[in-house]
Amino acid sequence: MSNSVNPFESLQEQIDDASAYLDASEDVLEGLKHPQRVLETNLTVEMDDGSYETFRAYRSQFNDARGPYKGGIRYHPNVSRDEVKALSGWMVYKCATVDIPLGGGKGGIIIDPAEYSEAELERITRAFATELRPLIGEDRDVPAPDVNTGQREMNWIKDTYETLENTTAPGVVTGKAIESGGSEGRVEATGRSVAIVAREAFDYLGSDIADATVAVQGYGNAGSIAAKLIEEQGADVVAVSDSSGAVYDPEGLDTRAAKEFKRETGSLTGFDGASEELSNRELLTLDADLLVPAALENAIDADIARDVRADVIVEAANGPLTPDADDVLADRDVAVFPDILANAGGVTVSYFEWVQNRQRFSWTEQRVNEELERVIVDAFDGLVSTFEKQSIPNLRTAAYVVAIERVLSAYEQGGRWP
Ligand code: NAD
Repeated sequence: MSNSVNPFESLQEQIDDASAYLDASEDVLEGLKHPQRVLETNLTVEMDDGSYETFRAYRSQFNDARGPYKGGIRYHPNVSRDEVKALSGWMVYKCATVDIPLGGGKGGIIIDPAEYSEAELERITRAFATELRPLIGEDRDVPAPDVNTGQREMNWIKDTYETLENTTAPGVVTGKAIESGGSEGRVEATGRSVAIVAREAFDYLGSDIADATVAVQGYGNAGSIAAKLIEEQGADVVAVSDSSGAVYDPEGLDTRAAKEFKRETGSLTGFDGASEELSNRELLTLDADLLVPAALENAIDADIARDVRADVIVEAANGPLTPDADDVLADRDVAVFPDILANAGGVTVSYFEWVQNRQRFSWTEQRVNEELERVIVDAFDGLVSTFEKQSIPNLRTAAYVVAIERVLSAYEQGGRWP
């Protein structure tokens, strides 16, 4: 893992890599490499003991040419201005890759939420929502959950916004609880698109996901659900990890039992359904057919990439490979199916949630899953077709080519003002 790689510079490098395959000049592309605006704010909030603490928070609005800014809110000690900027840019190109009419944004607070009570987290979240109020809105900017946030935080943000605006606007955030205007299928959506892309990837490469062995790094929302759904497709999930370590069984793990164990104990280490414990690096370099990084960015740097033994990587996390790792893996013919396609299920079902909120009409889970399947399979086919037609060296660059062309065409059709 590399802490020295700046994710915002990685995003800009990814856009540069795509530029050779785009009919656009450098000055036009420069405008697509920076956020339109970034809110930086400090939240001073009362703690349970009567003291006050100040938290730095950000919201980056990267680009809204194709629709309202859209993207999650992360609570993590390593949140930084550049991380939020990168994540907001990845949202723009993710929404464009899967062709949903949204732009890209992202937010975060520098905080370790495990150190705060629920009442403190509610006050911190409501303080952030108050700062966000002038920027967000159903047609402006629509936050969602990300690392260490979920339905609870989204409900607080929605309630704060609606109270201050004296309105009802359930579409101001997505990823809400069903009772608060959430969508069926949203919790599983990111893992589901990872599983769909894994299935399509093996098929495209001439094999079958049902015969594959799989290692998953990160066992939160995205990773644990991807693992469960990939196992349901017949694959053997042989290793999974979280920040406490990795567990391994060459015969295949029971992913539901592992999740239950993590829910009960707070970590995967000590899981009695596994035969061995591994280090994080051992998991990433395991002799498995498919590797799914589902933790944080920069998990695989060039050094780890040289030892990766999987033939296929499907990125559930945002930005889990450094640009150097990408180069090493391309040289070694490891097929990398990029984050802006593979984990786009989350934002796609967020989009469905927003559509349902605007229509005040709920879809069944079956409808949500069928529409998601269609969006992801169409995007997969479009991406490999561009990859083959233009002889692009890797699928990530092909995804950026598809996505940037769509953003540019939104500008061309709509004009640019001023
Ligand atoms: P989460 O907080 O639910 O889970 C993160 C998991 O990663 C936890 O199990 C944590 O223990 C583990 N982890 C952290 N550091 C690790 C390390 N060094 N080694 C192994 N495991 C480690 O978060 P999430 O929502 O599942 O998000 C994970 C990734 O997926 C992030 O990059 C996020 O941006 C991306 N993502 C999430 C969604 C979504 O809908 N949740 C959508 C798109 C992308």
